[in-house]
Amino acid sequence: MAESAAHAGAVLTIDLGAIRDNYHLLQSRALRATCGAVLKANAYGLGASRVAPVLAAAGCRHFFVAHLDEGVRLRPHVPASADIYVLHGPPANTEYEFVRHNLTPVLNSTVQVAGWRRAAHTLERPLPAVLQVDSGMSRLGLSKEEVNAAADDADFLRGIKLRYLMSHLACAEEREHPMNQCQLSSFRAIRERFPACPASFANSSGIFLGPDYQFDLMRPGAALYGIAPMSGADNPMKPVVRLQGKIIQLRRIETGDRVGYGVTYRAPSARRLATVSVGYADGWLRAFSNRGAVLVGGVRAPIVGNVSMDTCTIDISDADPSLLYPGATVDLISAEQPLDVVAPLSGTIAYEILTSLGDRYHREYVEAPHLNADVNQNTSVTELSI
Ligand SMILES: *Cc1c(COP(=O)(O)O)cnc(C)c1O
Repeated sequence: MAESAAHAGAVLTIDLGAIRDNYHLLQSRALRATCGAVLKANAYGLGASRVAPVLAAAGCRHFFVAHLDEGVRLRPHVPASADIYVLHGPPANTEYEFVRHNLTPVLNSTVQVAGWRRAAHTLERPLPAVLQVDSGMSRLGLSKEEVNAAADDADFLRGIKLRYLMSHLACAEEREHPMNQCQLSSFRAIRERFPACPASFANSSGIFLGPDYQFDLMRPGAALYGIAPMSGADNPMKPVVRLQGKIIQLRRIETGDRVGYGVTYRAPSARRLATVSVGYADGWLRAFSNRGAVLVGGVRAPIVGNVSMDTCTIDISDADPSLLYPGATVDLISAEQPLDVVAPLSGTIAYEILTSLGDRYHREYVEAPHLNADVNQNTSVTELSI
C-alpha cells in the first residue's frame, strides 16, 4: 500500500461510518433475525482489520470468513466473545487450529463432519459447528440424501454442538426468480429434520426477500460495502468506496491520431486527453477499454483506447480546464458513479470490481461521510477520527 496520498497513483477512500450505517440498516430490515457480517477476502478488499472493529462496535457478534487463515487473522480484531465462522470448513487435519483460535467451522461435507467429530472425541468436549446443507445451488453443503441419512444416524453429530443449520441462495438479487421459492421450500424441508436448530439462510439480497428468508442469523457481505442488494431496484445502502486516480500527463491529439496498445481508438476530431495512473494491475479492468468513463468535476471523460497495466487514457475535451493539471484527481468510483454502474460496463458484477481493487492505492479510512470532499482536505479528518 502506498505510504501517502502524495506518493500514490490513486487514493481509495473507505467510509467506515457508511459501513456502520449499512449494518444498522440491514439489522433494521429484520423481523427478529440477528445480523452477522461477511468479511471474507479481507472484507471484500476493504480491509478486515479496519472494518471488523467498526462492525463490532455497532453490535455485530457473528463474523464469517471463507478460509481458516482469514479467521486466524481476524481473531484479534473482534471481541473474544464474538463468533468467527469459517465458510469453507476445516481442511484435512486442521481441526485443532480451529479450536486453538476459537474459530467455528461451517461443515460442508460428511468428511468434514467426521473430522470435527473425531476432534471432539479426542478433546473429550463438545465442539461448536455450523452445518451447511445444499438447497439447490450445488456448491457446498450436504446433499438431501446425506442430510436424511445424517438425521437418521444418532452418531453422525456426536460431540458436535450444532449452532446453525445453514444454506445459501443462488439468485436472491432477482426478487422474482423461481429459484428463491424453490430453495426456501427445500431448506424448510431439511430443517424439519433438525427442528431444534437455529437457521441461517440469507445473504445481503436474501434479507430483502423478506422475513421468510431471514431465519435466525443473516449473513450480509456486499450490502455492508455499499453494493445494491436487489437488481433493478433503488439501492438503499450508503456508498462506501471512492476511488480517485491522478492525472499524470495531458496532451492534445489531432484527427486520426491513435491511442494506446493495439491502437484501438482513433480520434474522430482534435481531442484533449489525460493519462490517469490507474490500470488493470490496480483492478481497473482491461475490459473498460473504450468503455465507460471517469468523472472530472462531475463531467464524463470517456475512457479511450485500451487500459494499460498502470494507466488508462481519458478524453477530457468536455471537462473544466481548471480541474486539469498533472496531479489533479479524477473519480473512477464515487457516489455519482457507483460500483453497480461501473461493473456492467466491463461485463462483471460490483463484487468483482470491489474485490479486485489493488493494493497500490493509498487508503484513507474515514468515519464521517466525507466521500464527496476533496481527498486532501479530509486527510486530517482521517487521522483524528481513527
Ligand atoms: C459470500 C457469502 C455471503 C455474503 O454474500 P453477499 O451477497 O455478499 O451478501 C453469505 N453467505 C455465504 C455462504 C457466502 O459465501
